[in-house]
Amino acid sequence: MEKKQLKNLIPKLMKWFEINQRSLPWRVTGLKGKKANPYHVWIAEIMSQQTQMVTLIPYYHRFLSTFPTLERLANATEAEVLQAWTGLGYYSRARNVQKLAQIIVSDYKSQFPQTYAEWLALPGVGPYTAAAVVSQCFGEKVPVWDGNVLRVTSRLFCRDDAYLSDFKLEMLELLQQGMEFEKSASTFNQAWMELGALVCTPKNPSCGRCPLQISCGAFLNAKTNFYPPPKPRKKALEILAKVWVLEHQNKLFLTERKRGDWFSGMWDFPSELGGVKTPKKTMQAIKTVLQKKQSSIFGKTKHSITHHKIILEGHKLHIQNRKDFLALDKEQGQWIDLEKLIQGPTPVPLSTTARKILKIFFNFKNEEF
Ligand code: SF4
Repeated sequence: MEKKQLKNLIPKLMKWFEINQRSLPWRVTGLKGKKANPYHVWIAEIMSQQTQMVTLIPYYHRFLSTFPTLERLANATEAEVLQAWTGLGYYSRARNVQKLAQIIVSDYKSQFPQTYAEWLALPGVGPYTAAAVVSQCFGEKVPVWDGNVLRVTSRLFCRDDAYLSDFKLEMLELLQQGMEFEKSASTFNQAWMELGALVCTPKNPSCGRCPLQISCGAFLNAKTNFYPPPKPRKKALEILAKVWVLEHQNKLFLTERKRGDWFSGMWDFPSELGGVKTPKKTMQAIKTVLQKKQSSIFGKTKHSITHHKIILEGHKLHIQNRKDFLALDKEQGQWIDLEKLIQGPTPVPLSTTARKILKIFFNFKNEEF
């Protein structure tokens, strides 16, 4: 497709969006001439960065019912915020959301900034979030660039340099020009992303339903699966982690992950794993028990995190002796009822790895009986 053709396609895409858009909870107020709520859109945009829209909706509702206002979020404890984020993963996002809420409350008197430049100047806010929020909530004409827009444009123009910054800059310039002719910056940005999410999907795009089909280079050349090319990936480093599930009278022992650790602020089972700092005293207490008693492996599960593939090997250790039980005192962690951990709500926010181990431990216990 020629770049100059894009301008003629935009009205078709906008019309398609008006008819086919999903009814998303933060979107309801954003269209039909009304302004979207920046608090709601911002939370939804942060959640959607590593999570599918449909998956995040129940988490979005839970988070906003826990923190209905920016002030409530700013004044919450970190544990409360992590608890409300539980299940979404990438917990640094939850901590950053709270930090930003505190800045908006204290430095901006609880009023969200209204321009792209102001949003971009906020700590931890990147071009995508800034463009998504200001276009949807304040009507500023700044195009968004995400995986959906990249995929659609790469296919339209048959470009295999889609992951290079030159391509991104070229397409953003083109989108910016196209946006100038549109009344609503919100509709424009959301339409591109929605097309990528619903029609121009990563595998087997539904070209028959696509408003851009008539001029799409990849479709006309029957090469939709060639674009965008596979993303260059780093090979994940595989790590084996021993995870200790200490059990005493139907209670399990958990510790809090410290700052600088994976899942910092979340609670997890003690483990021996490079980069994870289970308190020294806890590990010493476990080793003391192990000198008297052998642990047994109850199962394995996997978890991938920033270029690492962790094999979690669950070791069960039954603590009978009261002295051993007390050695793992409160400063080191907490003994929590197994039933509470399984059924929730849990008294502390659990890391994803803790929940994975808990699941295989629970299955193992059921098979035991
Ligand atoms: Fe994507 Fe197919 Fe539409 Fe081209 S015609 S933009 S490949 S859905």
